[in-house]
Amino acid sequence: MVEPTRNIHHAATRIRQLDDAAINRIAAGEVVERPASAVKELVENALDAGASRIEVAYADGGKTLIRVTDDGHGIAADDLPLALSRHATSKIDGSDLLNIHSFGFRGEALPSLGAVGRLSLMSRAKGSSEAAEIRVAGGQLDPVRPAALPRGTVVTLRDLFHATPARLKFLRSDRAEAQAIGDVVRRLAMAEPHVGFTLTDVSGGGEGRSLLRLDPAQGELFDVLATRLTRLLGRDFSANALRIDAEREGLRLTGFAALPTYSRGSAVTQYLFVNGRPVRDRLLLGALRVAYRDFLSRDRHPAAVLNVICDPQRVDVNVHPAKAEVRFRDPGLARGLIVSGLRHALAEAGHRASTTVAGSALGAMRPEGAAPAARIYQMDRAGFGAAHPARTWQAPDRAGLPAAGSAPGLAPDLAAAELAPTDAPGFAETAAPSARAEETAPDPQAQALPLGAARAQLHENYIVAQTETGMVIVDQHAAHERLVYERLKRQMQQNGVASQTLLIPEIVELSEDDVGRLLDFAPELARFGLVCDAFGGGAIAVRETPAILGQVDAAGLIRDIADELADLGDSGSLAARLEAILSRVACHGSIRSGRRMRAEEMNALLREMEATPHSGQCNHGRPTYVELRLADIERLFGRA
Ligand code: ADP
Ligand code: MG
Repeated sequence: MVEPTRNIHHAATRIRQLDDAAINRIAAGEVVERPASAVKELVENALDAGASRIEVAYADGGKTLIRVTDDGHGIAADDLPLALSRHATSKIDGSDLLNIHSFGFRGEALPSLGAVGRLSLMSRAKGSSEAAEIRVAGGQLDPVRPAALPRGTVVTLRDLFHATPARLKFLRSDRAEAQAIGDVVRRLAMAEPHVGFTLTDVSGGGEGRSLLRLDPAQGELFDVLATRLTRLLGRDFSANALRIDAEREGLRLTGFAALPTYSRGSAVTQYLFVNGRPVRDRLLLGALRVAYRDFLSRDRHPAAVLNVICDPQRVDVNVHPAKAEVRFRDPGLARGLIVSGLRHALAEAGHRASTTVAGSALGAMRPEGAAPAARIYQMDRAGFGAAHPARTWQAPDRAGLPAAGSAPGLAPDLAAAELAPTDAPGFAETAAPSARAEETAPDPQAQALPLGAARAQLHENYIVAQTETGMVIVDQHAAHERLVYERLKRQMQQNGVASQTLLIPEIVELSEDDVGRLLDFAPELARFGLVCDAFGGGAIAVRETPAILGQVDAAGLIRDIADELADLGDSGSLAARLEAILSRVACHGSIRSGRRMRAEEMNALLREMEATPHSGQCNHGRPTYVELRLADIERLFGRA
């Protein structure tokens, strides 16, 4: 066993007042965890000073040097020593800690940095003809000296933590610390899209390596923010993001949130702000997850940049030394605003699916790394029996599309005949007899609609529709599943889901655990038209099923629901569990792949998709359709 090393004094020792240097080092422990936290404090100070351009430079992951230069209002020479003393701030007068309009207010950052590194503060106050500098190291202030600086403030922090070797040991590699600095700067650059930022790695001296250059911008917030997010998160994010602007009882939510089909494998693309302050707040992140819950499977994460704006009186930012968490006076309201604001925007997006879907579909048709034109050349050669690896036909099945259907599906007979002797493994599969097309006559009126006019059904699951600008391929099973789900939810909200009574109840044998969980949930199941009760010890009798599902395999449905209940455990709210279960139920009522559809049925499905919110993605966040524009198709054939 490890002995505790805590000192226990058996005699009273005298109490002493710690000196400022010690106090500042203690405070620094909370405020300055790593180089990135120093950068955050310094950039926030520059923003508070009204800067329009901020330059950040660092060396060796910020361990040896951090320098932040701004063009803000500066500090008067007389005030320089005060700026470095503890609890000295120009931002509040201390009378009201619930009325904070600046990033800073605790007056802790500069003295803390001065206690754990060598700090120089050089500044020229607006309207002053001279600049001045003060230095501090290990808590020891040097006298103020004149300096040369045209405007603004330059803070230089060298050898962070040289005075606290224990902390130095906890720092990660230069690369990891540099990455954290980049993250901080990016977050603040999103919070203040009008301000220009540069980030430079000056390790080894010289000009350094420019990592980020964002120009200051003028104009309407949403435009400026959209431009900035394109730079910071990429064109794909912007192309797939919905503009969010919602309000509820004086709380406003602004920003951009991506379509569910643009979801990520982790929560990396979630940036939340409260009154422009970057936060990592559990309440807000939880609300974001809930808003998308209905569209994403549990392992996918939404992408969003959101700012909650409210009267500062309604949120306490003085909860956390680094101010990364906040406390809303009415947390339910903030949460509700995020959930309803996002859901509303997603509903308005209707059937829209992510533009990246078409991109990845096209990508899937090409071998890794090859240019499209080269690829087409190879396809031709392979297609006409040249001695070429047949693998070029086989596309990686990344987009969840039947990739091989791309080329061979277009002319199965010809390709099959030509390829059969070349022993192409990928081909035999797709040339199976199921490749049957249900052709329909063109309908110019329907072609003008977003999802176009159904022209054919391929492989008894893919509806191919013609639009004015290209073509759409719909996964009929995925699309219909979503439609049934949305119908179920609608009926639930209105009068409850209509049920139909089974002539003979279906008896389903299950484990005792499953029976118990199902019976506990029986009142909720009845609300959506699934009526069942106990039947002896290890079985359930299903008496009524949701009418919307038609003829349904009741035993399969009950087993699926039992599995879902077991998976969910006690996690999540009742609403979350209901949604998960409804989504399972919808799957049972949907048109299976393999079912032939008539032209009217296909067109009806397309029209219902257009009219139904969220129909661009299935219940697991995968796309229900892919749109290929003529331009994309031409690109595929090397024509563009
Ligand atoms: P806080 O930001 O909480 O007030 P700091 O220790 O970060 O505390 O800064 C102390 C004071 O120094 C600020 O209140 C501000 O008056 C001044 N100051 C710091 N950095 C700058 C800057 N870049 N431009 C102008 N004034 C600054
Ligand atoms: Mg500050």
